[in-house]
Amino acid sequence: MPLLSCRLCGKIFTSAGGRTCSVCLSRLDELYPRVREYLRDNPKVGFNVETLAEEMKADIRDVQALADMGYLDRDVSRHTDSETALRQKLAKEFEDSLKQMKDASAFREPAKSAASYGQQRYGEKGKKK
Ligand SMILES: [Zn+2]
Repeated sequence: MPLLSCRLCGKIFTSAGGRTCSVCLSRLDELYPRVREYLRDNPKVGFNVETLAEEMKADIRDVQALADMGYLDRDVSRHTDSETALRQKLAKEFEDSLKQMKDASAFREPAKSAASYGQQRYGEKGKKK
């Protein structure tokens, strides 16, 4: 296993794949549930890594590490605020309802309206001639 320096504390450690030493990892393990809980309890407040670190009284590098590892992807890493999350949710709901409408009309349309359109035209032509 390669020796790496931990990206958080800089200590040389034996890496099993990650770039964070076991001491820092266990610290992140403790921090993560607290951050999630805080985000869950304050869904209307916008956060970024900085403000979260402040609220958690944690090292900003720890919060950033969680974000980098994808743990806080939706909430923090791209400075996503709750407004963006809401927009994404609405966009998805809109997309879903469009899909449902499309499905429904595709189910109904072809047989009935295509047939009556054809009959109408045929009928009119037949009358005129
Ligand atoms: Zn470390």
